[in-house]
Amino acid sequence: AKESGKNSFRFYTSELSLETEERLNIDIALHSALEKNEIYVVFQPQYNLETKKIVSVETLVRWENDTLGFVAPDKFIPIAEDNGFIIELGYFIFEESCKAFKQMKASGLELQRIAINVSSIQFKEPNLLEALISIVKRHELEASEIEIEITERFLMENTDKNIKTLQSFRDYGFKISIDDFGTGYSSMSYLKQLPIDTIKIDKSFVDDIGENSSDNAIIEAIVALSKKLNYSIVAEGIETGSQEQFLESIKCDIGQGYLFSRPILVEELIARFR
Ligand code: C2E
Ligand code: CA
Ligand code: CA
Ligand code: CA
Repeated sequence: AKESGKNSFRFYTSELSLETEERLNIDIALHSALEKNEIYVVFQPQYNLETKKIVSVETLVRWENDTLGFVAPDKFIPIAEDNGFIIELGYFIFEESCKAFKQMKASGLELQRIAINVSSIQFKEPNLLEALISIVKRHELEASEIEIEITERFLMENTDKNIKTLQSFRDYGFKISIDDFGTGYSSMSYLKQLPIDTIKIDKSFVDDIGENSSDNAIIEAIVALSKKLNYSIVAEGIETGSQEQFLESIKCDIGQGYLFSRPILVEELIARFR
């Protein structure tokens, strides 16, 4: 009994250290990833569900490292948030987004705006607003062309303070979108107090369309309420024609997902959608 206890303990620690080692490797490699040009951005179209025309894009970050290969953002963003690298990375992503958006507009693409994910850690920077304004100005864009995607979680921690922060961004003209809506615990009734412009229905709800009529009813209710509150509404992760049809039938405005397009490089986006 003693022997096997020892073995299972050893097994357990080696499992753990494997995970710790991977985290550590990512942590270390991240620090030089920008200098080595390993990080770049891609853009996924958001389209009008009625006309099927592209109306905006969302920036998604990509990282390819020599030894680690492609590392998914779901994996490295949380590590960058823990080690503080997200601050530098966040500015890089914002800068690259503005640069590419200008390129898209110059090539004749008629886009209302570009959506950029901003981590809750970035909002801890006291001069984030001023820094982002200066990047927007340098690229001769308007703040109203930039939609900042925040997570529902950000609004649920330090609610009063974070609502004030978002208000200051909106006062300057930035649009605010709540990402992954429905995955947190915010109540629908508290929605109306939030300084936001757009709600993104999480992919998990879109996945369930058609399978269960009560899921359909939940999405329908979110869309109806958002419209009453004058929010624009984006459904993410649309993969099938029947999901698209259902969303269009309940008057959801905007869609995003592999069915319409995967996230792609700016050159490809221009070539395909001009
Ligand atoms: P998110 O912001 O919810 O982004 C949507 C994710 O769903 C993206 O994954 C996108 O590629 C994927 N997706 C889009 N359409 C479909 C679809 O039809 N089917 C499926 N299966 N997936 C679809 P990605 O690029 O791997 O990003 C994952 C998450 O990493 C993002 O979730 C976001 O939380 C974070 N992330 C990505 N880029 C950035 C960034 O620039 N900054 C920050 N702070 N976070 C980012
Ligand atoms: Ca997002
Ligand atoms: Ca999302
Ligand atoms: Ca997500």
